[in-house]
Amino acid sequence: MQIREKILVVEDEKSIAQFIAAVLSENGYETVQARSGAEALSMISSHCPDLVILDLGLPDMDGLEILRQLRGWSSLPVVVVSARSHERDKVTALDAGADDYLTKPFGTNELLARVRTAIRHTRTASGNDEIAQKGTYTVGELVIDYNKHQALVRGENVKLTLSEFRIVALLGKYAGKVLTYDFIIKELWGPRAGGSNQILRVNMANIRRKIEKNPAEPEYLFTEVGVGYRLAEGE
Ligand code: CA
Repeated sequence: MQIREKILVVEDEKSIAQFIAAVLSENGYETVQARSGAEALSMISSHCPDLVILDLGLPDMDGLEILRQLRGWSSLPVVVVSARSHERDKVTALDAGADDYLTKPFGTNELLARVRTAIRHTRTASGNDEIAQKGTYTVGELVIDYNKHQALVRGENVKLTLSEFRIVALLGKYAGKVLTYDFIIKELWGPRAGGSNQILRVNMANIRRKIEKNPAEPEYLFTEVGVGYRLAEGE
């Protein structure tokens, strides 16, 4: 597996945030951190994480409020961590759209198990079959390897995040065809997603930077202004 999932850790207590980030980094995940709700919401749009670890007790807003706002446009997996241990609190968080719930204090293995499960569920959720495709797709010097979940340019493995790979894989599956922003967003982030193209645009800019020789004059990933994106068709 060549993909490193990016995880956003939303936690105002520095020591806990650093503990979680250290455990995740040691286990091959890329991490970014937010200390408040406002920062978390802005980082979800700008950093496009593959998963969010969300503390409920934040200085500026309740974690549940973040979850509710996020669920308005995204099915990004969220694992809630909280000192609130009542059943009722867990149900409230899960009803608000959390994928899982961890009560503080928790151990390293428990944390890693929840993260793995939440990520696996997104991968296998219906509508995400672009990643379950087999074989490869080649156009010019770009190869999308569906078995190994990686993209190669001139034989070099391009380090894509999970979201970036899923976008490339989806465009590869429909190569030559224009996919609308809305179609891509719903395929990737679920039917509840929609509204904002911001995350997709940021991902796309990152993919172009990694894949294209000159991102301003793409050879592979074309923008159909106001409509969506298209991947060049191979021979
Ligand atoms: Ca807290």
